[in-house]
Amino acid sequence: MPVAGELKEALECAAGDGTAVEPDYPLAEWTTLRAGGRADFFAEPESEAGLAALLATCRERGTPVTLLGRGSNFLPLDSGVRGLTMRLSREPFTGIEPDGPRLRCGAGAKLKHVAAEAKRSCLAGMEFLEGIPGSLGGGLRMNAGAMGSELFDIVESVRLMDPDGMVFEMPAESIEVAYRSCPLLKNQIALGAVLKGEPDTAEAIAARMAEFAERRWGSQPKARSAGCVFKNPETIPAGKLVDELGLKGASEGGAMVSEEHGNFIVNNGGATADDVLRLIGHIREQALAERGIELQTEVQIIGGEEARGD
Ligand SMILES: Cc1cc2nc3c(=O)[nH]c(=O)nc-3n(C[C@H](O)[C@H](O)[C@H](O)COP(=O)(O)OP(=O)(O)OC[C@H]3O[C@@H](n4cnc5c(N)ncnc54)[C@H](O)[C@@H]3O)c2cc1C
Repeated sequence: MPVAGELKEALECAAGDGTAVEPDYPLAEWTTLRAGGRADFFAEPESEAGLAALLATCRERGTPVTLLGRGSNFLPLDSGVRGLTMRLSREPFTGIEPDGPRLRCGAGAKLKHVAAEAKRSCLAGMEFLEGIPGSLGGGLRMNAGAMGSELFDIVESVRLMDPDGMVFEMPAESIEVAYRSCPLLKNQIALGAVLKGEPDTAEAIAARMAEFAERRWGSQPKARSAGCVFKNPETIPAGKLVDELGLKGASEGGAMVSEEHGNFIVNNGGATADDVLRLIGHIREQALAERGIELQTEVQIIGGEEARGD
């Protein structure tokens, strides 16, 4: 693959910080559903300067860029993801630093680690993050939420990198967010955020975390999934709708609608992204035909025309 070899070398040379660029990389192993295709190229940048240089090189060459977080709402098409897919998993991107009532967090930090640090720092308001298996970057893109709270409720500011590699900071008030979406992050990369909590005792925080965990694990499947497949329509929770349509347990290949929660599709072994997409299509058709409801996907279908979701 001389062209691939040339691009790998150009990217590694541009990064200049020891970042390895892997061609033809299987993405499924970095997704919680363990399904989907391969990235043309994959890298975990070692530094912010390296990330900026990789972006600039991709921009010059017209190579598409995709960000992967912890892959917990991410379905790469079986046909693969073109260009360079990057994961901010190295140390410069994963820090969590307490600063009075705030936590300064890198985009690669796990949300459960953010919740744990908030508890250690006696800061309330971040308990709901504990059970969300994503990173802060993916959480910001999705405006992840649970137990009546969502991430942007506690964000004070976000540090971003634009497609040319320029770094800037925005206060949360100036960022448009919606239910399970922060459209700005479709084209900008989140590098980190300042989160704000309220002082409380570690015991009270721990009690709320335990209560949330009990509520979560009472209703959520333990099998491999990509979280909620559909956004909740205004009139009915998506899981209840799927249940009422009699589709719990419906399957396509290795993908099955969870018996425990209708808004989760689980991998029963060997599911392909195509299996999942056929099942999603079937549910959407039934919801429209029987209830007149157009279900929108929450899971990010990555690759082809739909790269980086809505
Ligand atoms: C068992 C289970 C339970 C879940 N429970 C919840 C829940 O309660 N509430 C909830 O909201 N979600 C839930 N999810 C879904 C998922 O965990 C969240 O959406 C999470 O925020 C995704 O983060 P991630 O790091 O895994 O992102 P990924 O899934 O890897 O990516 C999601 C999107 O973010 C983009 N992205 C990733 N990093 C960046 C970055 N640095 N800058 C810009 N864009 C970026 C990706 O390109 C993609 O479009 C659950 C998932 C599972 C599997």
